[in-house]
Amino acid sequence: MSAVLPVIIGAGPAGLRAASALVEAGLRPVLLDESPAAGGQIYRQPPAGFGRSRKTLYGFEHKKAQALHALGARLEQRLDYRSGALVWSAQDGTVSTLSDGRVQTVPYTHLIVATGATDRVLPFPGWLTPGVYTLGGSQVALKYQGCSIGKTVVFAGTGPLLYLVAYQYAKAGVRVAAVLDTAQAANGRAALPGLLRAPALLTKGLYYMGWLKAHGVPINSGVRQLGVLGNDKVEKITWKQQGADVLHELACDAVGFGYALRSETQLADLLGCRFNFSESDRAWLPERDAFGRASKTGVYLAGDGAGIGGADAAELSGELAAYALLQDLGNDIPAARVQQLSRQRAAMTKVRRALDHAFPFPEDWAAQAEDDMVICRCEEIRVGQLREAIRFYGVSEINRLKAVCRVGMGRCQGRVCGAAAIELLAHETGMDVAQVGRLRAQAPIKPVPVSAFAITHMAGSDTPRQATAALRGDGNV
Ligand SMILES: Cc1cc2nc3c(=O)[nH]c(=O)nc-3n(C[C@H](O)[C@H](O)[C@H](O)COP(=O)(O)OP(=O)(O)OC[C@H]3O[C@@H](n4cnc5c(N)ncnc54)[C@H](O)[C@@H]3O)c2cc1C
Repeated sequence: MSAVLPVIIGAGPAGLRAASALVEAGLRPVLLDESPAAGGQIYRQPPAGFGRSRKTLYGFEHKKAQALHALGARLEQRLDYRSGALVWSAQDGTVSTLSDGRVQTVPYTHLIVATGATDRVLPFPGWLTPGVYTLGGSQVALKYQGCSIGKTVVFAGTGPLLYLVAYQYAKAGVRVAAVLDTAQAANGRAALPGLLRAPALLTKGLYYMGWLKAHGVPINSGVRQLGVLGNDKVEKITWKQQGADVLHELACDAVGFGYALRSETQLADLLGCRFNFSESDRAWLPERDAFGRASKTGVYLAGDGAGIGGADAAELSGELAAYALLQDLGNDIPAARVQQLSRQRAAMTKVRRALDHAFPFPEDWAAQAEDDMVICRCEEIRVGQLREAIRFYGVSEINRLKAVCRVGMGRCQGRVCGAAAIELLAHETGMDVAQVGRLRAQAPIKPVPVSAFAITHMAGSDTPRQATAALRGDGNV
């Protein structure tokens, strides 16, 4: 029998739980993560000597963070954990990584993709002004670098992360001048019955809002048409209330913004997985069965990378994906545990729906986007150029739009601008977001310096040939 080579990409809650289940079953998986330490986004570990306690850093989640970090530490000797390994391509039994400035290839027979999510970005005038960050980026600055994005900060957009990050900043002593939420207060009230299914989550959310209000942080809901003023740094934020014409403005020197999260799906795409449109994520996501099996044999999907569900759901889905892998290898799996995980996950999916109602996507964003606003910062493409290209070439599909005007063709490969470009294309053509398609992934999915190929080549390894083949996408090594 040929050797089993399980590889997991992502050492967040999903990847670590998957690793744990595989290790318990006697396997020794390779665990790859581009970060220096395990934990993923929510439980990102600070650098050594950081100086802030875990309780301060992770708040209500500190026990879960501690448990997951302890799990990672316990597993370290029992698997092949490679931190600082960025996966930039994956196909046909091989994962390509960039590690210590070198490209390498890692063979696999079974692959669990648990790559998480990033902020969903909807640009606004002035969003490229120094001092504007995503919500996730703002949180990373605080959690990982122990610094604030500014002295007087406004947080804008929508989603649970909006209030959490505002609270974390205010608690850390930063002046939070306002929270600007595109959701209406009525959305939250309507979502209450659904949110009552998760009393702990609801209590935390209400606590953050209550704490902010009690500490004098104004919370504005139903906000539209954000704008940032300032030349070489943020000086003011402006906005209107939905349906009103008055322009409000507020002095600040930094802005954190985001509209919930978007799944990192590029590797599933390169692997040839089938995608389905998800109404609640407003995006095409890789198809998976109840355990996390992808349509491609030997590939499993777990965590936020396969659909946004949050950290607890990510842990469950990681464990389930590992059981699917073990089952496919002919192992018995613990039926009672699987049933319990599936039940918990179904309950969490209902809560996720309620959160979508509480923080709806601002569907009118595209209609309000101004022509001179940059939408694709890598290629400096403006909204007006997209509109013109759509009309001139009669474009109705997102990859065609990319081909004619380079939107999504730069360093971020559409990870930042993709969602907004799709919204705009759908609005201009009068089509559904689902109909205009999804940006197809290309290797490398994240920037790889050319020097990495040269260094690897000089070191006498044959991996550049493999890497070049992966880049070409032909799989011929
Ligand atoms: C910036 C940010 C901050 C967040 N903060 C909070 C919070 O404070 N509270 C909360 O409840 N939720 C938060 N969330 C949501 C929460 O982090 C997720 O729901 C949860 O972490 C999902 O777990 P996961 O294992 O699926 O993914 P993640 O925790 O995101 O883990 C994915 C891992 O994969 C790695 N990875 C991704 N791509 C590659 C690649 N190509 N090569 C190698 N490694 C790769 C990443 O480095 C990461 O460690 C945050 C999300 C983001 C994006």
